[in-house]
Amino acid sequence: MSNLRSHAVTIIPGDGVGPEVALATQRILDAAAARAGVAFDWEEAEAGASVFLKGDQTGVPQATRDSIDRTRVALKGPLETPVGFGEKSANVTLRKLFETYANVRPARELPGIPSRYKGEGVDMIVVRENIEDLYGGIEHLQAHDVAQALKIITRKGSEKVIRFAYEMALREGRKKVTIASKANILKFTEGMFKNIGEELAPEYAPIEANHLIIDNVAHQMVKDPAQFDVIVATNLHGDIISDLASGLIGGLGFASSANYGDGVAIFEAVHGSAPKYAGKNVINPTALVLSATMMLRHIGELDLADQVEDAVLTTLEEGKALPQDVVRQKGGDVEAAVSTTGFTEAVIENLGRKPTSVPAAASRPRPSAQNPHKRWPDGEARRAEVGPATVIGIDIFAETLMSPAEFGTKLAALAGPEFELRIVSARGTVVWPKMSPAFDHPGFFRSRFVARDKSKVVTDEALFALIARVTGVATWFHLEKLRSWNGEEGFTRAQGE
Ligand code: NAD
Repeated sequence: MSNLRSHAVTIIPGDGVGPEVALATQRILDAAAARAGVAFDWEEAEAGASVFLKGDQTGVPQATRDSIDRTRVALKGPLETPVGFGEKSANVTLRKLFETYANVRPARELPGIPSRYKGEGVDMIVVRENIEDLYGGIEHLQAHDVAQALKIITRKGSEKVIRFAYEMALREGRKKVTIASKANILKFTEGMFKNIGEELAPEYAPIEANHLIIDNVAHQMVKDPAQFDVIVATNLHGDIISDLASGLIGGLGFASSANYGDGVAIFEAVHGSAPKYAGKNVINPTALVLSATMMLRHIGELDLADQVEDAVLTTLEEGKALPQDVVRQKGGDVEAAVSTTGFTEAVIENLGRKPTSVPAAASRPRPSAQNPHKRWPDGEARRAEVGPATVIGIDIFAETLMSPAEFGTKLAALAGPEFELRIVSARGTVVWPKMSPAFDHPGFFRSRFVARDKSKVVTDEALFALIARVTGVATWFHLEKLRSWNGEEGFTRAQGE
């Protein structure tokens, strides 16, 4: 055993069909490794439903965290996520714990697998920011029937994932990176993402960079998906379009993914725990097996990755041993399908063979070391560059059923000598001093007070006194300081402001 090259990997079988796809993947990897004089030292670890049931609210016990800390590489099955109120998703917890900021989901046409776009050459990679955005899960009921979620995008978080996308494109011989955003509406959050994508582009020549609005990306992905190469997007948009991408190539049974951080990577299938198939030995393990090929490339086992990928492609291409979902997609009789175990054994038998209708894995560009970029922006230097913030006013969100005219008139009267009431808005649209033609009272308004004298420093004391005066008119529930940097306002204007 001592002359074997050995890799420690944390394996999290997960929930539902997870243990079946995890076992299938381990068997295929072990068989390929044995042929190549490589060994895996699997550290089995728990996460998900069973952990929640034991009362651990995180779904990821310390032993699992310690294992990943040691191995730096995890292969995981799906984890059940409680819906609605209650525990947070263990998947999201894992991604955040290890700061795996880049979620990578390839979508490539596979031999023998039917899809609407067969023959068009779909071969794209969606890179999704994996930590920030609405997935902070920072939500409040502002009023009883008014819910708010905070969308947080940082320059550093955006730069990390965008650089990752460009570097991955260079490494893997890709030609184009499309930055997908909603910068036309969300000027600060999505706008920052777009701007950073465009600013960094010249550093990564010869990669061609373009920007598309995310809704157009969705449209174009359905109309002409082969035009895309690498797409990079913020978390929620990336989540949606990467699922769209898997639908282009035959569905969830084939969609693989990887979560990369600086030093830790977690590999998983896109699909969930498919509880109705759990324990039935019918699930298609391809998605996790293909995710494992990404893992093999990540740990430098390029030949092994090619071997496993080629064996999977050969099995699908031959079509002699296909799992139920594929047989169903092909319009065949599910009685003719093989079990998860049967498919696993067919792949193992095909180790060493190469597909004939599509290029073998080794003919694709060979990725070199993952994520060489480690020089993330320095917060201190950046703060010095942008200078100090100047407080110029405050947004006060308050509950009221008063008409906009009555509310606006009352607040304007109490603004005092330091402040003027610039606008009152309802859900982002000005309702005072001008009223929008169609107005549906939401039960709360945002009032925007700004300093009358721009040359004077706005103090917290002045703001507190203003808030106290507003309290006499309505119940405030949310405050936001209005600040500017070098004369540039750090807040958006309301519609009609
Ligand atoms: P799901 O992906 O589990 O299943 C949806 C359907 O897709 C299945 O019923 C099945 O028809 C098909 N399918 C999925 N994987 C397949 C495979 N390998 N082979 C063949 N067919 C397959 O989605 P869901 O039902 O919405 O979610 C079930 C649970 O999984 C939920 O608790 C959810 O939160 C969780 N989930 C976890 C992850 C993850 O761990 N990364 C991802 C998605 C969903």
